[in-house]
Amino acid sequence: MIIDTGWNQQECMDAMQTGLRELGVDITKTDFFITHLHTDHLGLVASLVTDTSTIYFNQPDAERIKAGIFLDDLIHSARLNGFPEKELQTVSHSHPGFRFRSKKQLTFHILGGDDAIIISDYAFYCVETPGHSKGHMCLYEPSKKVFVAGDHILSDITPTVTLWSDEWDPLKEYLRSLDKVYELDIELVLPGHRNTFRNPRERILELKLHHQKRLDEIISILEKGRRNAFQVASRMTWDIMYDSWDLFPVMQKWFATGEAIAHLKYLEEKGTIHKEIEEQRQVYSLN
Ligand SMILES: [Zn+2]
Repeated sequence: MIIDTGWNQQECMDAMQTGLRELGVDITKTDFFITHLHTDHLGLVASLVTDTSTIYFNQPDAERIKAGIFLDDLIHSARLNGFPEKELQTVSHSHPGFRFRSKKQLTFHILGGDDAIIISDYAFYCVETPGHSKGHMCLYEPSKKVFVAGDHILSDITPTVTLWSDEWDPLKEYLRSLDKVYELDIELVLPGHRNTFRNPRERILELKLHHQKRLDEIISILEKGRRNAFQVASRMTWDIMYDSWDLFPVMQKWFATGEAIAHLKYLEEKGTIHKEIEEQRQVYSLN
């Protein structure tokens, strides 16, 4: 079974095929498990799947794909959140999630929490971990104490928690999912990006603290006055090698704004802040 596949891009296909050859994998005897709908995990699966393979996936993300994910909807939301018009033009032709996604329709075998996939002497249990995406799902092998984390926990980068619609509170769900995984007895984490690592509990506490600091930072930004999400993002601190917000590449501003919206939503749901529409823009203030 292959877990997550990379972008729908020739470089990813070449790397995947080289890896499969090295391992002697017979692709006709291979199933797929995709942790979540993001294109860097799901994009290539359509080019790898055979008539004899199953793609395991989760219900919420499958529904989202079925309903259609339209860049225009995201752009509309970004505009509402104060994203500058000129920079939206750049987003519309450079968003990697749309450039490298699969154009084919996929058939999924849907799994949910505690469902298991048995492969020889491995039993992988599904662990629902919504937050990074609505349906994000990890795998846990209790006897080997191995945890396949997707983008739920990463070692030296923070998984993005982002929002472009108003329909859910992803940060609340994400923090709850972190608490859930904290309870598991894990020795080795296999994440979707960068290095494998041990001791996820320490990392989980770091991630929780990171988000608490972010929330505090946003409150202190709003103490100085009402702002839209783009303005909030521009005043937050980002670990990036550009000297000022104005120098950030547009896609980085995009991801930063999505991240700011998720944190603003969390504070709004908690009753710490509220939003109003003003000149067709959402503006946030402290309560
Ligand atoms: Zn992701």
